[in-house]
Amino acid sequence: MSSSLTVIGCGSATPVGHRLSSAFAFRHQHRVFLVDCGEGTQMFLKDNHIHMQRISHVLVSHLHGDHFFGLVGLISSMHLFGRDYPLTVIGPPELEHIIRCQLEAGDTELSYPLQFVHTCSDGLNLLWEDRDLQLYSFPLNHSVPTTGFLFREKEKPPFMRPPKSFAYCSDTVYDESLVPYIQGVDLLYHESTFLESESQLAQDRLHSTAGQAAMIARMAMVKKLLIGHYSARYSDLQLFKREAEKIFPEVMLASEGLIVNL
Ligand SMILES: [Zn+2]
Repeated sequence: MSSSLTVIGCGSATPVGHRLSSAFAFRHQHRVFLVDCGEGTQMFLKDNHIHMQRISHVLVSHLHGDHFFGLVGLISSMHLFGRDYPLTVIGPPELEHIIRCQLEAGDTELSYPLQFVHTCSDGLNLLWEDRDLQLYSFPLNHSVPTTGFLFREKEKPPFMRPPKSFAYCSDTVYDESLVPYIQGVDLLYHESTFLESESQLAQDRLHSTAGQAAMIARMAMVKKLLIGHYSARYSDLQLFKREAEKIFPEVMLASEGLIVNL
């Protein structure tokens, strides 16, 4: 059994050059969970041989366009390629209305059942589980209701490898109250839109700096930190790594196509 995370997009508000908006594929055994779905997600999947029909769940952290503008296109392509088994979309309640409205406007009757699970940005909530894995949401602190997501493998007999965990913190201001939700995870993705030199801007726009992401990782005693959601104003991403490493050494820079094995 293995889990891995593929970075599809790790830019912020708008796609810039080769940098796509937020999207990640979390694979666990035969399942693929798509975590956020910015513009261009389905093109990336096609180019990187990730079969869209293997996606069982799409998770949307919040309703800013850079996290869900690719969703209706993906849903539509799954239909056009003849999908016949359910897709579950997990996100804020308004997302169901938005997607159904877009499909109705085009008189599209999907070839497969589309199910919605509504998140609430209040405390830790179990969204889904099977024999091996649990998926939770937890609140982030951003300008609209936003949730992070936590994947946690269930405990295994002692002769097997220890259970792994992955926490996803898409858009959030520096907020120590999220530490208990992500305590000790094997991999933490935490946004770092800005560098410390723009910390006031980060505060004003309810985003984090690379240094703040590293502070959260250190406080939560996670094993590895992955940072992304870089503002388009920066071209040298090594500055993010250097800033974060001073506080928390196990840092990786997200980049399109990067695969992290858990
Ligand atoms: Zn964003």
